[in-house]
Amino acid sequence: MNLHALDYINKNCVEVLEQASKDSGVNEAMIKGVALFAVANGYDKLSQNQKYHFDETIRPLIENVQCSGFYNPYSGDRVDCSAVLPDENLIAYYGHDETYCESCQSEADYMANRREQIERE
Ligand SMILES: [Zn+2]
Repeated sequence: MNLHALDYINKNCVEVLEQASKDSGVNEAMIKGVALFAVANGYDKLSQNQKYHFDETIRPLIENVQCSGFYNPYSGDRVDCSAVLPDENLIAYYGHDETYCESCQSEADYMANRREQIERE
């Protein structure tokens, strides 16, 4: 669990929380409140009820987040990937639209390089 990533979400991409609230069918404002409280005071200070909502809705955003899968610009295919992103990469994940696990990242870099080469030729 990466509360720094949650802090980042609270400040920069609160729409992630809004979407998660919708997905779990819970009140958006309540989830945002729990998220702010958890960052400010720590998970242990949440009430039982808040912990429940934190675990259901917020925790999956900041723990065991799955790689978004690799997009192949040549074939237009998205390659599914079940790799779990390291917690320390989560801020990067929310800072960019796409963040890949190491393997997908190197694949994406390779594709980008090749594309540059082709364009130069
Ligand atoms: Zn991946």
